[in-house]
Amino acid sequence: MCRLATDLCLSGFVANTPFGALIEAEGAADALEDFESRLQTELPAPGWIASIERWDLSPRGEGGFEILPSEARGETSALALPDLKVCPECLREVFDRADRRHRYPFANCTRCGPRYSILLRLPYDRANTTMARFPMCPDCRREYEDPADRRFHAQPIACPACGPRLRLLAPDGRLLAEAEDALRLAEEALLEGRIVALKGIGGFQLLVDATNDAAVRRLRERKAREHKPFAVLARDLETVGAWAFVSPEEAAAMESSAGPIVLVKRRDGAPLAPSVAPENPLLGVMLPTTPLHALLASDLGLPLVATSGNLSDEPICIGEDEALRRLGGVADLFLSHDRPIHRHVDDSVVRVASGRPMVLRRARGYAPAPVPVETADRPVLAYGAHLKSAVCLVVGDWAFLSQHVGDLETPEAVHALERVAGELPGLYGAAPAEVVRDLHPDYASSRLAEAQPVSCLRVQHHLAHVLALLAESSVAEPALGVAWDGTGLGPDGTVWGGEFLVVDGRVARRVACLRPFRLLGGDHAARDARRTLASLWWTARGLEEPLPAPLASVVSPSEVQAWRAAWAASVNTAVCTSAGRLFDAGAALCGLGWKNRYEGDLPMRLEHLSGGAAEDGPRLPLQDGRPMLVDWEPLLPLLLEEGLSPRERSARFHGSLARAVADVAGAIGLRTVALSGGCFQNGVLLERTAELLEARGFRPVWSQRVPPNDGGIALGQAIAAVRRVRLEV
Ligand SMILES: [Zn+2]
Ligand SMILES: [Zn+2]
Ligand SMILES: [Zn+2]
Repeated sequence: MCRLATDLCLSGFVANTPFGALIEAEGAADALEDFESRLQTELPAPGWIASIERWDLSPRGEGGFEILPSEARGETSALALPDLKVCPECLREVFDRADRRHRYPFANCTRCGPRYSILLRLPYDRANTTMARFPMCPDCRREYEDPADRRFHAQPIACPACGPRLRLLAPDGRLLAEAEDALRLAEEALLEGRIVALKGIGGFQLLVDATNDAAVRRLRERKAREHKPFAVLARDLETVGAWAFVSPEEAAAMESSAGPIVLVKRRDGAPLAPSVAPENPLLGVMLPTTPLHALLASDLGLPLVATSGNLSDEPICIGEDEALRRLGGVADLFLSHDRPIHRHVDDSVVRVASGRPMVLRRARGYAPAPVPVETADRPVLAYGAHLKSAVCLVVGDWAFLSQHVGDLETPEAVHALERVAGELPGLYGAAPAEVVRDLHPDYASSRLAEAQPVSCLRVQHHLAHVLALLAESSVAEPALGVAWDGTGLGPDGTVWGGEFLVVDGRVARRVACLRPFRLLGGDHAARDARRTLASLWWTARGLEEPLPAPLASVVSPSEVQAWRAAWAASVNTAVCTSAGRLFDAGAALCGLGWKNRYEGDLPMRLEHLSGGAAEDGPRLPLQDGRPMLVDWEPLLPLLLEEGLSPRERSARFHGSLARAVADVAGAIGLRTVALSGGCFQNGVLLERTAELLEARGFRPVWSQRVPPNDGGIALGQAIAAVRRVRLEV
């Protein structure tokens, strides 16, 4: 910016203010025009311009262009930037023997390095980050002050002489080695199959040799994570290409400055331990995000499992003491350093669906980049739901969706949500005038929201899903929102999950849903697909009908008796319209087992079973009414059809459901159809639905920057409050 101004012979200054960058430029009128337009096109990555406001001032006749120190007064609303993956130039230096940053694990520049994870307060200046404790050496100072240098005003600038240092600790906290020695010892341990906890950008990760099955299994045991796939760190794109099929969009996502974990289809015979991602055709892969990761990956020449440094369901550890305490029984060694992480930021997860990247877990590299929204007349803070929780703050025209916190299954996770909810408004100097929660009173997020000293609005789960997507894609309304997921409490007290909502400004209406069924055992059914299938079966055929053979063979007569009794007496059988449960039953009848070993496990395996594409299946009838009902009954004979292979049954199952969405869209007749909720993480369902909608002249939109799952709920909740949306049932 400074260079551009100097090139155009402008005088003036730029200052990082609480409201964003303030530029005062003086010069010839056409040079000023030129400056404004080139500013928008030539700003080097990762810089970006959200908006420009412009005032005309009288000339002052000053000479030169300079950078002024930041002001810390007034309302703090400058934007916090996401953490960025190490850039190619920094990597080149780290691997250059002649460079002063040769093998330095903390090299960074204006285009890369930590940001949000080290930010204490705004504006973003070294003194306001955890780098404040490292005084710059003269060499770094010179780079920092040189407008022609790539490190000009790179706040976390560091080098071996003045910056953070590596250290290797034993699980009891003993210091074993420092700097390069620490790295070497950690690498030796990894080669021997040991587990190393590594302090990354936004928290500790657990690393282990991904080709060593015994070592990976040991990590699974110690972390209490039996089945959920692990992500793998690869040295470079070429290496990934040897294990997996990588499309250009997937490669672009991996190489982007966010540097997320990207889900790719693995090749047969990929040299990875079977326990990395058991029974899963997809592989989560990421490229080195810091020089430290690049050094490890390149020195070892091995793929490494790189998974969050936590026990199952707990948030990722950030502090050394905390890591030693919580991961002491998991990791054999701790490769740490002395740059504090101020807030936890997990690795993000992206998949490419229908040719576009879709963020499934939004954290490092994305959070807290804001989503522009309609203007809020007061700050609003939304607390999200229960799974994949995150909070969202709306101030003025911006929605700041926090980093992923996790499922609120443990006290640690609830505490982490509370901390993020307290901190995000503080960062922007905006005390919430209203908070928002899910309708479900028992979610920990609901209780936290209710405990706040301001009024608390309750927003229905699926309305929040749809509003989040409409905000993200800023499409015109009225629009038909489709929200399909596992569960969310409806205003009628039933469990929703297969919803069609028309949203028009301040009014939303439930126009259709899946045919309701009573679900045996309520929450238990989310794990046990036997109960779900019995529920669907008895709803469709009546209690007298014998259970279908595949189910009858896996339940004991006493269980069936207990279920029948509960069903007949309507005990613990909540009415639901959950699309997620339909996928569970579909997976079970395709022979994939009866248990969801983790959230979304059965539906994901059903998607993979289809071979990657939907096929035409039976049409699901629409029953007129308010709401209109989509009858899933024809899926049962399809799934029990012995003449079809499990793959064909799965492909047609997806095809039937996609066509049902298109049929409802046809009946409603609104052009824009927004596909949201966890079920639309399913690439096969999403692609076929979008294809059918487009073929019939509709305009489908789906989530890209904000997760379609409950990770995006808080954004929709906040919009509901800003706009005062009323849900009519
Ligand atoms: Zn860089
Ligand atoms: Zn230095
Ligand atoms: Zn949901």
